[in-house]
Amino acid sequence: MIAKTQAIVAREPTEPLKPNWAMEEVTLGGFGDDEMLVDMIATGICHTDIVLSSVPAGAIGIAYPKIVGHEGIRNPVGVELASIVREIGKNVKTVQPGDPILLSFYSCRTCEQCRTEHPAYCDQFAKGNYIGRQDTMETASDSQPVWSQFFGQSSFAQTTVASEASVVNVKNLIKNLDELKLLAPLGCGFQTGMGAIQNIGLATPNDVVLITGLGAVGMGAIMTAKILKCKSIIAVDRVKSRLEIAKSLGATHIIDTSDSAFTTLYEAVRRLIPLGASVAIETTGVPTIIEQSVQATTPRGRFIQIGVPPLQYELSVNLTQHINSGRSIMGCIEGDCVPENAIPQMIDWYRSGNFPIDKLVEYFDATDYEHALRKLKNGETIKPVLIWEQS
Ligand SMILES: [Zn+2]
Ligand SMILES: [Zn+2]
Repeated sequence: MIAKTQAIVAREPTEPLKPNWAMEEVTLGGFGDDEMLVDMIATGICHTDIVLSSVPAGAIGIAYPKIVGHEGIRNPVGVELASIVREIGKNVKTVQPGDPILLSFYSCRTCEQCRTEHPAYCDQFAKGNYIGRQDTMETASDSQPVWSQFFGQSSFAQTTVASEASVVNVKNLIKNLDELKLLAPLGCGFQTGMGAIQNIGLATPNDVVLITGLGAVGMGAIMTAKILKCKSIIAVDRVKSRLEIAKSLGATHIIDTSDSAFTTLYEAVRRLIPLGASVAIETTGVPTIIEQSVQATTPRGRFIQIGVPPLQYELSVNLTQHINSGRSIMGCIEGDCVPENAIPQMIDWYRSGNFPIDKLVEYFDATDYEHALRKLKNGETIKPVLIWEQS
């Protein structure tokens, strides 16, 4: 054992689709040559954390207990934050103890997708991000091995082990600790929305963009569509406060699906823009919204699915109509981003006032994670960020 620490441990859910989390003491056994020991400062909560700790044991390879969390900002344990200087793995080249780092997803860095700068489609993505490993942490109370290295990091822990592949060194990009906390969630949700518009939607000033669902991914997409000067940006949600924020970020039209006058998304879009949307970003995973968004996409338009639908759901497409429409229907993980490029770009945009994530982040003490989950679920907060107390 090299350290004891506090972590939010996810046990097998006792109620369907409800995460069963508890703050527990865990022990860290060690770290590999390509890894490092890090003190966590702040971690964003993302839907993936909730979804992948709400499924029954065995579904999509998930086992418990596990530690999720994948939007961390940490310092490799070093002189700046902790009084004990510890080591980084011997193969680690991009950071030194004491450097501030921002965490993103894991990729193997050697497969064909990784070598061609598409690490979000890495051969090892599911194993290295969703499943992780069992050889690093165990629970202090009953010495059970814990599935950790979630997204190469399991950042719902005060101190944890991170893979170098998940790390972006931000030593030369961050001015102070407050910025470090604010920028914690750049590595997943905001990056996904940004990349969906820029890398997959290939949006230009000629595009009409439709964004369904206004969590961090949807808001990242709106801010990016505005930066790219898309001619119309239609934001769709059922929470009024989110629609108001979307307008302040650059949405030119809004559709409130909770409005009594709302019938179908297809009709609502056509009423605003008769030709429909040339780029559609779907983040809700709700089957009717998915189907209507596809319909509302113009000929040759690009429909991009990000929200995870019910696991058995299949989209039915009339292929003859599809051929004639020339539409693309695409999946999207992490906006097809390379985090080492995407994160500095978003930090630049934040500094110039074009990516105002300070309007979207709300801080919670890490022990108050249940409050954060409640506010995320009812739409009161867009991006909850847990703050870890460092001793
Ligand atoms: Zn790979
Ligand atoms: Zn995420």
